[in-house]
Amino acid sequence: MKKRIAIFGSTGSIGTQALDVIANNADKFEVEILTAYSNETLLIEQAKKFNPNAVVIVNENKYNAVKDALASTHTKVFAGEKALEEVACFDTYDMMLAAIVGFAGLKSTLKAIETGKAIALANKETLVVAGDIVMQKAVEKRVPVIPVDSEHSAIFQCLVGETRNKIEKVVLTASGGPFLGKKPNFLVNVKKEHALQHPNWNMGAKISVDSATLMNKGLEMIEAKWLFNLQPAQIQVIIHPQSVIHSMVQFEDGSIKAQMGLPDMKLPIQYALAFPQRIPSSFPRYDFTRSSSLHFEQPDIKTFRNLALAGEALHRGGNTACVMNAANEIAVYGFLRNRIGFLDMTELVERAMHKIHFIENPTLEEYFESDAEARNFAASLINL
Ligand code: NDP
Ligand code: MG
Repeated sequence: MKKRIAIFGSTGSIGTQALDVIANNADKFEVEILTAYSNETLLIEQAKKFNPNAVVIVNENKYNAVKDALASTHTKVFAGEKALEEVACFDTYDMMLAAIVGFAGLKSTLKAIETGKAIALANKETLVVAGDIVMQKAVEKRVPVIPVDSEHSAIFQCLVGETRNKIEKVVLTASGGPFLGKKPNFLVNVKKEHALQHPNWNMGAKISVDSATLMNKGLEMIEAKWLFNLQPAQIQVIIHPQSVIHSMVQFEDGSIKAQMGLPDMKLPIQYALAFPQRIPSSFPRYDFTRSSSLHFEQPDIKTFRNLALAGEALHRGGNTACVMNAANEIAVYGFLRNRIGFLDMTELVERAMHKIHFIENPTLEEYFESDAEARNFAASLINL
């Protein structure tokens, strides 16, 4: 039996790489659902190649174009935000690859969990916003949440076979992004063209900017807390510019396990899709005999203050991370449209975190409200 996969966000960086993995393993996987926000051209091309049962184009203006292009196929076409939640409830697939970017991925992922689908989770914002509710629902429904984010995949892989053993701490590695070693007097002038040039990974625009500001690592600390049930003191971030060690787990006897490999998202994607199996791949291998040395250093949280803000969110809990994430999405949006500078992004996030009222144990509705409040506040500060 082939595993039937629904890719939410199939036209993105993760989505397209996942389709490559599936194309190379057509005996093991088949595509059941594909979704895009507005890239109808690529969605149509993907649907013609992979013959899914259903596709969703969120932007309703593109519905007719997709419908007409797929008229001669058996693929059903849906449009609009609500359709994401509806198709997430279909019982014709086994696993959702949650690869929508940002808060927009939360509702459909929750629906998939509620209806008992396994989750391969790329969309880290889902856990940053409402990790307690998402993970509790997953436990209740007995659905596995398998991380795709490379650091969390590394930790997950290190933990296989260790269910009875306590984690002393996890060490999340960070490449440091394109501005490693730079100071505020340099960062104040950087433009999106620089921020989008990540040294090791080729990713979507939002996560590329998050990597440049180190917000990505901040989001990942919170993601790790929920995935692996950790206390803030058990989560350490270390800069490792080569991105060969994807992360590590230290156990109570002091032993440290690391997962390594060349930086290539296809590996964690394939691992999550095939779990618990490891299937062969032809991805390039890391060669120790040709490698330069592996380097580690402390992150500079005075310059990259997002990491400190995320640390604050991690400690405070409640709706703080949700607020931080919402303000950050607006900040990145503003930066990508040249409305604000690089350092202004942190400023905006910090102001939102101090402005929006704290809720200790938010309901899902309260998370949505906090998200909307923080978004509106941040947008008002930059006249969006
Ligand atoms: P991309 O921007 O490349 O792709 C995002 C996908 O989501 C596209 O299919 C896009 O559709 C769709 N989308 C965008 N906005 C919405 C919306 N409002 N509603 C529904 N769908 C939407 O992002 P990435 O693939 O880089 O990242 C996806 C997620 O995976 C993020 O959460 C990111 O943090 C995480 N991740 C990514 C990594 C990477 O290497 N790229 C590594 C680790 C984690 P369209 O193309 O039509 O706009
Ligand atoms: Mg990552």
